[in-house]
Amino acid sequence: MTALAPTYARYDVTFESGSGCVLVDADGVEYLDFLSGIAVNNLGHCHPAVVSVVQEQVARLMHISNLFYNAPNVELAARLTARSFGEFVFFCNSGAEANEAAIKLVRKARPRGDLIVAHDAFHGRTYGALSATPQEAKQAPFAPLVPGFIALPAQEVPAAVGASTAAVLIEPVQGESGVNIMDPELLASIRSACDAAGAALVFDEVQTGMGRTGSLWAYEQVGVVPDAMTLAKGLGGGLPIGALVIGERLRDVFAPGDHGSTFAGGPVVSSAALAVLDVIDDEAFLAGVREQGERLLEGLRELPGVLSARGRGLMVAAEVDGGAPELAKRALLEQRLIINATGPTTLRFLPPLIVTAEQVDDALGRLDALLS
Ligand code: PLP
Repeated sequence: MTALAPTYARYDVTFESGSGCVLVDADGVEYLDFLSGIAVNNLGHCHPAVVSVVQEQVARLMHISNLFYNAPNVELAARLTARSFGEFVFFCNSGAEANEAAIKLVRKARPRGDLIVAHDAFHGRTYGALSATPQEAKQAPFAPLVPGFIALPAQEVPAAVGASTAAVLIEPVQGESGVNIMDPELLASIRSACDAAGAALVFDEVQTGMGRTGSLWAYEQVGVVPDAMTLAKGLGGGLPIGALVIGERLRDVFAPGDHGSTFAGGPVVSSAALAVLDVIDDEAFLAGVREQGERLLEGLRELPGVLSARGRGLMVAAEVDGGAPELAKRALLEQRLIINATGPTTLRFLPPLIVTAEQVDDALGRLDALLS
């Protein structure tokens, strides 16, 4: 029993240190991490390049507010826009906040407009982001939600876009509902529908971004360019930072006073993000992500009890015929392998992007021992 609010069903494990893909608990027991703090520790735990810039920055300057500039933040905005469709970046502290910013942006661009989201989407827990997350159990206790959100099966989205649509907000690969890969042709027809109606297309790349799917951004593999995208999770190498990257169509929408956040884009988190980008934004590194992702997928398909496996890069899921939450728990406690279950039949794998072939094989061996 702790004094933590009971909003999570936590496992009874306390971690004290970590390095690369390995976490160490309070008794000194090592665990192989194939979850990365839910797609956050893309460079593994305590990557030396991140640790050293953060230590250096913490000792120099921690916080100044957004009434002034700090050089790492200006550089990060320049870097994110240079490496994407973006022209401006609004910084915040989490994925939900990045989506809040996106919602405000597209509503201001088309006043009183609706937002269309896909069934099974997950965009966060704050009121706007929750209103964009059409899951009964998450939404119902907190009604009334923000008005103007329309949830549809993804295939029905293109036909629903019209003159009253402010935006379609969609994950190129749905993460929390179990690595559901959106058909590129469907995303292309959503793009066309938005163009025809003057609506914005926003990709939530909070989970898929920062190399997770084997390209820096998932949209690069899909061949569809959004008008804005939201980032968080892997961006700060373990520190909390979110971002809304704004493309040409929406570049002139936000004006001074429209939005803000006290802590956002501070020098420490911005330095960390620059160090993460230095490593991840590299074609050889991203090729490694795709290669290990394929190895993991193929290995999973060979395991007893795995009915199918799917994924993009190192965002992978396996279907079993039931008991996935219990399997994830047993993987942790019996095999010291950290994974999670996104539903009764779905196991999800989000290893650090630095994972080696040996570690992929090690994880598969531990799963084999569990499933056999
Ligand atoms: N969007 C997506 C696609 C996510 O996967 C998540 C978190 O899982 C969020 C938004 C919310 O991010 P945060 O928990 O940082 O608010």
